[in-house]
Amino acid sequence: MRRSIITGIGGQDGAYLSRLLLERGHEVLGVIRPGQSGTLPGLVQVGVSNEVRLVQCDLCSYEAVAELIATFRPDEVYNLAAQSSVSRSFLLPGETISFNTLSVLTLVRVIHECAPHVRMYQASSSDMFGKVPQLPIKEDMAFHPLSPYAVSKASAHWIAKNYRESFKLFIACGILFNHESPLRTRNFFVKKLICEALEVKQGKRETIRIGNLALKRDFGYAPRYVEAMYGMLQHDSPGDYLICSGRSVLLTDIANHICDSIGISRDRLVTDPALFRPLDIPDIYGCNQRARQILNWEYSLDFMDVLDILIEAEQQHIH
Ligand code: NDP
Repeated sequence: MRRSIITGIGGQDGAYLSRLLLERGHEVLGVIRPGQSGTLPGLVQVGVSNEVRLVQCDLCSYEAVAELIATFRPDEVYNLAAQSSVSRSFLLPGETISFNTLSVLTLVRVIHECAPHVRMYQASSSDMFGKVPQLPIKEDMAFHPLSPYAVSKASAHWIAKNYRESFKLFIACGILFNHESPLRTRNFFVKKLICEALEVKQGKRETIRIGNLALKRDFGYAPRYVEAMYGMLQHDSPGDYLICSGRSVLLTDIANHICDSIGISRDRLVTDPALFRPLDIPDIYGCNQRARQILNWEYSLDFMDVLDILIEAEQQHIH
């Protein structure tokens, strides 16, 4: 039986990846913060809370991570833990950059020095590219990060690559574009909009404050994106892969679809300039050809269909 560690197990991707690894016969150990306890709602929601063992670990402590690796003796480590909100990263730039980079450096150092056979997945982000000269984004394009979160992920990505190249470690970086699911928290755009539209419908609020909707983004479905993470660590050699739908969707179209599906007037959407980001680019989408060809990863979901899944899940949650 293969043994896998997932950091950030309490997040959206941690839950879906746990379920996938268990289905593939892995034993799964989930890492939670020191002092954190109790059941994780995401694991409960995907039906695996009894099958995943949880352990507290300070991911920035070399000694703690070395002990974790020595005790569990994993074949694979999926490093998903991060302060993952762009807007929060502007409020907490130091915390975001510090944790998102130091935790990765600690993990690759431990793997290099104590367990070089371990295969590692690093959760990189399309936000690293930021301002790009042309579309679609491809793996070899230069980074121009536009937020503290993006800077932290770019730095972590280069730490992971540097250890892979310097010490011939098996470290794969999945550069994922936005991916959504019912497990998203409400501080992310799509989930916030769905929840607040339902609150308008129920008479619990009058309006929905929104930022700049004249932007296009490449959105996907989390349960399908974690399959690519798994595929990266089963391949013969490590690499970097863009995981995306390959198409961008206008945020206005997403907002309108949500209002229409839930049955509220589009007039309830009220633009609030305070929600605009300091720097934003109008359109982003990626090319997933490398993942399709090398990992045999397939993705063809239309994001409006994904939205219907998310709206339905939220409606069931309420009733
Ligand atoms: P979530 O925000 O849902 O989960 C992040 C996890 O990291 C949580 O379990 C959180 O723990 C943990 N974490 C955060 N800060 C710390 C800390 N200081 N110490 C220990 N644990 C911490 O993210 P997703 O599941 O959506 O994403 C997984 C990874 O993929 C992240 O690294 C994210 O940046 C990256 N990514 C995600 C994309 C997306 O669209 N979802 C796109 C591109 C990359 P807690 O629950 O206790 O807060």
